[in-house]
Amino acid sequence: MAEQKQKVLIIGAGLCGLTLARKLQRSGYEAKILEARKRTGGRIETINTADGTPIEMGATWLGAKHTALTALLEELEIGITEQYLSDRAIYEPLSTSPPQLVQLPANDAPSYRIEGGSSRLIKTLEGALLPESIIYANRVTALDFTASQVEMKTSTSNRQEASYTADIVVSTLPPRLVSQTINIEPVLPADFVAIAMQTHTWMGESIKFGFSFAEPFWRSEQLSGTLVSNVGPVNEMYDHSRDAEGRFGLKGFLSGAYARLPQNERRELITRQLKKYYGDKMDDFLSYEDRVWSQEPYTYKPSKIGLMPHQNNGNPVYRQAFQEGRFYIAGSETASQFPGYMDGAVRSANWVFDQIAS
Ligand SMILES: Cc1cc2nc3c(=O)[nH]c(=O)nc-3n(C[C@H](O)[C@H](O)[C@H](O)COP(=O)(O)OP(=O)(O)OC[C@H]3O[C@@H](n4cnc5c(N)ncnc54)[C@H](O)[C@@H]3O)c2cc1C
Repeated sequence: MAEQKQKVLIIGAGLCGLTLARKLQRSGYEAKILEARKRTGGRIETINTADGTPIEMGATWLGAKHTALTALLEELEIGITEQYLSDRAIYEPLSTSPPQLVQLPANDAPSYRIEGGSSRLIKTLEGALLPESIIYANRVTALDFTASQVEMKTSTSNRQEASYTADIVVSTLPPRLVSQTINIEPVLPADFVAIAMQTHTWMGESIKFGFSFAEPFWRSEQLSGTLVSNVGPVNEMYDHSRDAEGRFGLKGFLSGAYARLPQNERRELITRQLKKYYGDKMDDFLSYEDRVWSQEPYTYKPSKIGLMPHQNNGNPVYRQAFQEGRFYIAGSETASQFPGYMDGAVRSANWVFDQIAS
């Protein structure tokens, strides 16, 4: 008789959860994902603006060093393209001096973007799963490990509750959310919880914005789509065009301090700054989008104490199973290499798979 493989419930349909579910299903495990949002991808989301320009609201860039991610992309036959930077950038060192156009040094470690957008990776992984593998809009609220089968409780936005059982549960939430939002029985060790609560969620405080335009006017002689500003409110910006598709855009990061402003006021602030370099051409934008990640409850909850970027990311405390081998706390921030990044999410999925399958 064929060996009965374990039933694994995965919390979260981001890059880590989807990569793990695909690996488990391919090896004959019964794997399902519970996802709080109505969409997959978590911190990866390529949105299509009203004029059809795709803009990344979350993860965008990868490098050759991200070998776990590049191996997955190759396996899925998804290409990458080099980020267009040009050889110059607008640099604004001080509010008291005008912006400068500076020459960029040769880049021997270029950044790449996923062809078709980062969500293409998510959709491809999702499409590789068995039908009905993902249960959407179901927030995991409780895990009970006191019986032989793990019991999971979920809740929808209109408070409809459901329960599921499994042999093994894998969380792929940013670690702080595990401690802050899921009721776990028996409680996890206090020293572990202390570290989880002080694990920074990469980019959790960030605001990303994007404009689309009919023409890439910033590519003219005396300009650049690359911006580094110590003055702000935009600190960093890049050309976000897809030349092959005739779509042009600028995308950057706005200081997290503007999270509470209404979206139109954020747009006004950004436009005012960018007009310093581009003049009235900024008014010709076709669409504006932004995403305040600190207001996404399934990514971020405020911390009572300030955390340094990447604090406790990759802490070895995450390289163990809890609840007598029935609970893993995975996700990008737990990876031993490149924690916080897409590569970390894939590495974490690979590590948990090896533990379960060994
Ligand atoms: C603005 C921004 C820019 C970034 N830029 C880059 C970049 O350029 N390059 C790079 O490599 N990385 C970048 N990152 C980081 C990258 O997005 C993450 O490392 C990666 O996507 C994390 O994947 P994950 O699956 O580990 O976690 P997540 O994507 O956070 O997935 C966790 C999933 O769990 C779900 N969830 C949460 N709570 C519950 C619950 N109670 N029940 C059920 N489901 C739940 C969430 O909805 C989510 O789908 C960026 C992130 C952001 C926000």
